[in-house]
Amino acid sequence: MTDAIVVGCGFAGAVAARQLAEKGKKVLLLEKRPHVGGNMFDVLDENGVPVHMYGPHIFHTNSLRVYEHITKFGEFESYEHRVLGFIDGKFVPIPFNFKSMEELLPQEADGLRKLLLQKFEGRERVSVMELLGSDDEKIRRLGSFVYEKVFVGYTAKQWGIPASQVDSSVINRVPVVLGYDDRYFHDTYQMMPRGTYTRIFENLLNHEKIELKLSTDALDLMEIRDRQIYFEGRPFDGAVVFTGPIDELFGFKYGSLPYRSLHMEFERVPIPQFQPAAVVNYPNDNEFTRITEFKHFYKKGGSSTTILREYPMPYDRSAPKGNIPYYVFPGEKNAELYRKYLGDAEGIKNLFLIGRLAEYKYYNMDAAIERALEEAERIF
Ligand code: FAD
Ligand code: UDP
Repeated sequence: MTDAIVVGCGFAGAVAARQLAEKGKKVLLLEKRPHVGGNMFDVLDENGVPVHMYGPHIFHTNSLRVYEHITKFGEFESYEHRVLGFIDGKFVPIPFNFKSMEELLPQEADGLRKLLLQKFEGRERVSVMELLGSDDEKIRRLGSFVYEKVFVGYTAKQWGIPASQVDSSVINRVPVVLGYDDRYFHDTYQMMPRGTYTRIFENLLNHEKIELKLSTDALDLMEIRDRQIYFEGRPFDGAVVFTGPIDELFGFKYGSLPYRSLHMEFERVPIPQFQPAAVVNYPNDNEFTRITEFKHFYKKGGSSTTILREYPMPYDRSAPKGNIPYYVFPGEKNAELYRKYLGDAEGIKNLFLIGRLAEYKYYNMDAAIERALEEAERIF
């Protein structure tokens, strides 16, 4: 007899499954893709470099609990992510920092640096919105420059709507740095697996109480009627942890929640190095948003290199491309629609929602893990 059904094998599902198994519960883990790892799935290229099949994933967290938990299942190496943006024909640090300012605004950089340090005394980072809202005209002009050169084009490509219509919480994920720090993240723990993420998932799932079924869409086997979950036609009263899209779970009864998708275009290039950094963003050129060159993450050599171009596109669950709901759209309107589904979910006592899709939240990996750890404590 199965005590718990877990749907989805990204970090949310895999961590929850493991925690329940550790409690002695028999867990059936269903994943519709043919592999484990959700969006963290990676495979080695011919140089032994892990290639992240759903886009570059860098592990960063401020949570000691998450750090201690995940490092039990695999070795990590410390890695600080640095991104360049190709702007006005130059590679400059993103987040925009004093070096970017000196490269792109050489005449004004000196004066602006002093002004910024004086106006934002004690601050290491500000949002571009704060620059735009400053009472100093020169700072406002700098804000407009950064907004135009770094955010407007990238955001329009990424989200398919003008930057002005994208929730500011999204844009504010990337600050403006008042100094020369060129790291993309500022968390206490920043790292990459020593091998693959996939290996970490295999370790997480290597437990006698976990039965994994790949290439299995749980919604072909499961349905909800009158606040009761049915599995293979029979009422199921064990715990159901769902980490897929919540609107699908409820048959889109209140309408579809919007998602944004990506088309991933991989290329193996027969040269040792393609670009000067692991990730180069193209805010204003090309249809793709960024190029990742994976070997930079792992400091590996080899005479060829694997790169990835990401083309944002609308999400369409039945289309051959764009059928993965990568990004939720933050914002009040969608949050309201989400709450309707949540209301239904809360009426089902043995249903637990965890992760980016089930909670409709812009979670990083660490947040998905943290939620799984928290929620698994509540179950049983
Ligand atoms: P997922 O990884 O999406 O896993 C959900 C799983 O459920 C999927 O495998 C899906 O196939 C499965 N599923 C859905 N419906 C069903 C069903 N009906 N039946 C069976 N299975 C089902 N985070 C970071 O911390 N650092 C980064 O650098 C980073 N980079 C990112 C880059 C990109 C391009 C994207 C899109 C995301 C990035 N993230 C990053 C975020 C990270 O991917 C998420 O935090 C993480 O995937 C959340 O894990 P999850 O388990 O909630 O979801
Ligand atoms: N962004 C941008 N230009 C950049 C990098 C990011 O405009 O060079 C914006 C864009 O809207 C993006 C958001 O900032 O969606 C958040 O960026 P982040 O790198 O956190 O996105 P992720 O890929 O992790 O979701």
